Formats: sequence, C-alpha cells, structure tokens
Amino acid sequence: MESTNPPVLQLSHISKTYTNIMANDNISLKLNRGHIHALLGENGAGKSTLVKIIYGLVKPDNGKMIFNEKNYAPENPQAARLAGVGMVFQHFSLFDSLTVAQNILLGLDKAYSYDSLVDQIVQMSKNYGLALNPKMTVGDLSAGERQRIEIVRCLLQNPKLLIMDEPTSVLTPTEIEQLFNTLKQLSLQGTSILYISHKLEEVRRLCNDGTILRDGKVIKNFLPSETTSSEIAELMVGKKIKPTVKQNSHSKEKILDIKNLSVKSQTPFGTNLKNISLEINQGEILGIGGVAGSGQDELLLVLTGETKVEKNTILYKGMDIGHLNPQERRELGLLTAPEERLGHAAAPEMSLIENCLITAKKEKNLVERGWIKFGKTAQFANDIMKTFDVRADNSANLAKTLSGGNLQKFLIGRELSQNPEAIVVNQPTWGVDASAAQFIRQALLDLVSRGTAAIIISQDLDEILEISDRFTALVNGSISTPKVTSKLTVSEIGLMLSTHSTN
Ligand code: ADP
Repeated sequence: MESTNPPVLQLSHISKTYTNIMANDNISLKLNRGHIHALLGENGAGKSTLVKIIYGLVKPDNGKMIFNEKNYAPENPQAARLAGVGMVFQHFSLFDSLTVAQNILLGLDKAYSYDSLVDQIVQMSKNYGLALNPKMTVGDLSAGERQRIEIVRCLLQNPKLLIMDEPTSVLTPTEIEQLFNTLKQLSLQGTSILYISHKLEEVRRLCNDGTILRDGKVIKNFLPSETTSSEIAELMVGKKIKPTVKQNSHSKEKILDIKNLSVKSQTPFGTNLKNISLEINQGEILGIGGVAGSGQDELLLVLTGETKVEKNTILYKGMDIGHLNPQERRELGLLTAPEERLGHAAAPEMSLIENCLITAKKEKNLVERGWIKFGKTAQFANDIMKTFDVRADNSANLAKTLSGGNLQKFLIGRELSQNPEAIVVNQPTWGVDASAAQFIRQALLDLVSRGTAAIIISQDLDEILEISDRFTALVNGSISTPKVTSKLTVSEIGLMLSTHSTN
C-alpha cells in the first residue's frame, strides 16, 4: 500500500557481491512508516545480506539509503541503533546464568542504573504486552520469553525501524499471537517493522506490505492480504510447487520400542525425560510436536546413543540397544539427524566431501583398509547436492561456508541417501525455504513408503500434521499418548501441547 507520508527507509540500487555471488543485485525498496513489511525469498535470495546492510553489519558495494529523510550509511550496528534501527536476531545472544535485567543492561549502548532499568522493563512489559519478569534467571525462561528480552532491549532504544528475522520459528501458537499483538501495537504507534519469515500464512495475516527477493533481486512488491500463499511461494521459487503425496505402506513390523524411559538432562538448563514409552513401526512417521526446550535435544541424544540409558528401555527390532554408541547404531540401520547443524551434525571446518565420511563411511562403503575412497566419497557428496538442490559451487567447500538452509538440505540428504531402516530427525526443515522444505518432506514420505520407520521431531506444527501418521506432544520432558494424526482435531492438538507433566 502506498502511504502519503515519506517512507521511513528508502533503499536505492543497493548491491553487494561476495567473490562471485551477487547477494544483493540493484535492490530498491521503500518501507512505509508504521507498516509491517515482509521480506521474503528462498534461502540464498539475499534477505540476510540486505538486513545486515540496513543494520550496519555489512557495507554495500553500491547504492544509497535514506532513513528518516536523511542519508544513511551506518558504519556499524551501534551507529544503526543510534539512528533508530533495532534488530531481533533469530538466535538470541543471552547469558543463561544472568537475570533478564542484567542481560538487557549488557546489551544497551547507553548507561542505565540497574533499578531504573528494572522499572522501565516492568513498564514496557505492561505497555506492549511483553510479559517478562526482570529478576528471573534467563536459563529458566521459554523461547518466547527470551525473545521478549531481545525485543525490550531494542525498544528501550526507541527504534523507528525494527528488523525481525524469523521471529516465530521458536514460539508456541499462544506466544505467536502475543508477539503479533505487540508488533501490531508498535506499528500503530508508528514503528515500522521489517519482517523476515518463511511462514506465509502468518505473513498474510500480519504484514501490510511485502517484497519478494530471488537471486539477490527484487522480484515483486505485493500486498500480503491479497495474495495467496501458493502465489507467494511460486514467486519466491519461480516455478510451481507440488503438494506432498503420501503412499501408505502396509507392513507393520515394530522397529523401535521405547519403554518407560527416564533420563536426566546432561546440561544445567536442560529438560529431564520422564517415563517415555513409544512404539514406531516400519513404514510410519511418528511426529513429535512441542516447543523448543521440552526435551527434544535430550530425546535425540538418547536415540543417537550419545546419552546412555538403563537396560531394556530402548529396543531396536527386539534388541536392547541402550548401551550401543552412535556408530554401532548406524551399522544396525538406525540413523539420526540432530537439530544443531554446525558442531553436531556437521564439522564446520571440513569440506562437504569430508562431512559425508562422518556418518556414511561404513554404510556407503567409502573407506577401504583405512584408505578413503576419495572419488567415491566426492561422487556421493555431489549426488546429494544434485538431488537435494544444495547451492554451493563445490563439494570441496567447507561446511561452515554454506547458508543454514543449504547445509540443512545437505545433511538431511546425507542421511536419507543411506536408506536407513529407522531414522530420527529433529527439525527437518528448520531454516529452509518453502520449496526445499517441500522437497525434504516428500523425500521423507518416499523413504517411509519404502518401509523406513521415522520419528520426526518438529516445532512446526503444520509440517508435523502434514507428514506424520501418528502424533504426540513432548511437554516438559513427558509425552502424551500418540494418536492417529488424521483423526485429531485442532483443539485436541492444542490440549496435547499445553498439558504439563505432573511427574
Ligand atoms: P538469505 O538470507 O535470503 O538466505 P543471504 O543474504 O544469506 O540469503 O545470501 C545471499 C547469497 O550470498 C547466498 O548465495 C550466500 O551463499 C551468499 N553469501 C552471504 N553471505 C556471504 C559471505 N559472508 N561470504 C560469501 N557468500 C555469502
């Protein structure tokens, strides 16, 4: 929508090239005052580069910015904040052992007395519906509360423009509604919001304006409320997207049997698993929903073999595997793909080819008498890149140089290409764009229709409901009784997700 007021931010012909990639290619864009403006695009489209330019983290090669009717070229984020630009990142940089107020104090450019800051936080929480207790320790807080800390930290600096990067990916449905109320209130009071998201329905509901980037260029400015999600997705991708197709598998042999599993978390602010019992059959997907920090990481560590468990609590095809290490489990056909990509699933300083060796050397026969079969390994890496549309110019590139979404496609591809008998995936499509997410979901469904048993843990409820045969919710380390997904109603799902364990 055109506004009669001058735009809060006007970008003209912004370009940024990295070696041989044009991350931003002649981008011109206007952000209206008091509007929520969606910035959309596939992974690698150039969204992060553009917001980093606006926030002073990256310098453009060309182009001009006018912010608040003045020429604007921030030297660094501090200069951007001083000018009135705030940014809430996808990954929060908070200290778990400090309080809310201490964390906020550390991130402010201006000096505040602790007591007056506590008062201001309380006031701000009231004014903007950002429920937050300044004296709580951050380690005890939910993802939604952590995000509110970052928002309050930004708001204390009175931003005219607030940039939000994928803000709802870690939130529960209730927290999403609360966030939207806050953002709407801010926009009514004249703050502009630049909103990056892959969740198109949310964008349609929340945003006034939108811009789609592809290959570093502006493809279209659009009105979210008047454009359907599939139209938006097709503009992002540049082609039609097929819906996932599910084929039923008829075999029902029990593959994994988890019995009364209780495990203490290995991290100070982790979640203990409480009395979990689950069965997973051949050819089915068991979906586990729940907000971040409900025990997902702990459950995954138990299934990979990084956390040892009591006897007879995890059976794989009738065999007790609780004492087996990750490699021994992989050799039996039980593969896992953890959420924490760099450091857990991938070695950041190694090439994609070397990263294939980490989990596939036995299964894909990539090593012989201690010697790496380099050609075969490179071929495997190249095949994954081709099948899963991993955008990097070379499989010899280091894992850390790939964008989050591309690395995710590579790592999921590495596991799925090994035709596992059972697979456990945490957040299969986290950080990947609509078409890649669809591709990964379809690849999982195809794998399962050939007989693999799968556990998919995801905070994306729509995704889990789309692909799982049975659904359960992980809440505070406990699970609810799994139910057939197709028969669940929205209110039953809500109830499963909100019921807290009394154990
Ligand atoms: P998005 O946020 O839409 O996923 P990015 O702005 O992160 O996109 O990336 C745009 C393109 O620029 C991608 O091809 C990415 O690989 C490349 N790129 C981004 N940052 C760097 C960097 N620091 N060095 C090299 N290439 C980069």
